[in-house]
Amino acid sequence: MIVTDLPGLPSLREYRQIMGAEQFLALEEMAGRLSGVRMQEINSTRHGGGVAEILISYVPFLNALGLETTWSVMEAGPPFFEVTKTLHNFLQGRDGFSSEMVETYWEAQRQNEGLIEDDCDVVTVHDPQPLGLVEFLTAKERERKRLLWRCHVQLETVPTATAGSIGNILRRLVEKYHASIFSSFQYLPLWNVPSFIIPPFIDPLSEKNRDLPASEIDAVLNKYGIDPEKPIVTQVSRYDVFKDPVGVIQAFRRVRQKTPCQLVLVGGRACDDPECYLVLREVRGAAEDDPDIHVLDLPPDSHREINALQRASDVIIQKSIKEGFGLTVTEALWKGKPVVAGDVGGIPLQIRDGWNGYLVSTVQETADRVLHLLRNPEKAAEMGTRGREFVREYYLLPRGVQDHLAVVDQVVN
Ligand code: UDP
Repeated sequence: MIVTDLPGLPSLREYRQIMGAEQFLALEEMAGRLSGVRMQEINSTRHGGGVAEILISYVPFLNALGLETTWSVMEAGPPFFEVTKTLHNFLQGRDGFSSEMVETYWEAQRQNEGLIEDDCDVVTVHDPQPLGLVEFLTAKERERKRLLWRCHVQLETVPTATAGSIGNILRRLVEKYHASIFSSFQYLPLWNVPSFIIPPFIDPLSEKNRDLPASEIDAVLNKYGIDPEKPIVTQVSRYDVFKDPVGVIQAFRRVRQKTPCQLVLVGGRACDDPECYLVLREVRGAAEDDPDIHVLDLPPDSHREINALQRASDVIIQKSIKEGFGLTVTEALWKGKPVVAGDVGGIPLQIRDGWNGYLVSTVQETADRVLHLLRNPEKAAEMGTRGREFVREYYLLPRGVQDHLAVVDQVVN
């Protein structure tokens, strides 16, 4: 399915103001070099999760730069998404992939056989879900197009030695691409494919990240019964065990024993994640009916509300146990918030411990750091200011686009 309900073309002038003219000029020159190259992005969900969040800004931005780019989403039923969730977990080091799952995976690939467009030059396939589509191209098409696999997952060492095993299948598929892209050098597999590193990014002008009027923030707090007078600690995340929402509740309770505060868990149900219903139930159980704990289950397009909740917060937690990059951390830093986050995956690429936030590994550490920030609002504000400038420098959309175009330039020229 081609995504047709994207927002209109963004105003490049506003991005130029945020980034500075010099960096923007370099980007425009790069786009000029690639003029006429047609690009296609493919992933497995329209809403929910970091990849959809990136593409919703990235695709219109490329079009505004004059590079024709389309976005296609796989169509598949719940069994496929159960399988790809298991696959995702497998890549992050958890076992449980069966041979029936391999069959379901291929069924979905066959169903989406024609998804790669005939007349595009560079196809970027995101994550393992649509990886197998490469098998349906003829040798000639594979030769004519440039195929990139962009992996957003925190890839653990994947066992690939056994023929027919899922690790072996994935490796074989990835090696059919012209290049692969990872969020961090830590995840580079020793596979036979040229690899590039591109850290993810956020769009400073999206509904999720643009400035909001104070009245709108107040209205959102009011809507969800959150007290604007009591300090707010928030974690925004899909309901997923790797985000450790129950650990967040435990940490929060330890903080609240020492100082009044409330916890907001902001989440939703990405349609490619069948496990989230179970996790949400577990979270509600752990929260009991505690009036200071707000467990929100928001629709997938709640970007402005999430923006408001992040802005209303005194401290943002992201207590992940695994994390490819953690766009929620980037979003919080951009809003000038101090972040207490798991010392895993891509999070240390964004947080320098003690400078723009804290890196933690346990419930107790999380509680200690949150308490410290609540008790030292000036320090929290200083960290927030540093975090915002750090994101401006490294993790905004124009920089991400420029890096991607540099890869495209290498594979097409
Ligand atoms: N997000 C959202 N609604 C939710 C939960 C998360 O819009 O209920 C967004 C969040 O703001 C962020 C993205 O989804 O932009 C999550 O990206 P991240 O890299 O943090 O984690 P992922 O979900 O990809 O593991």
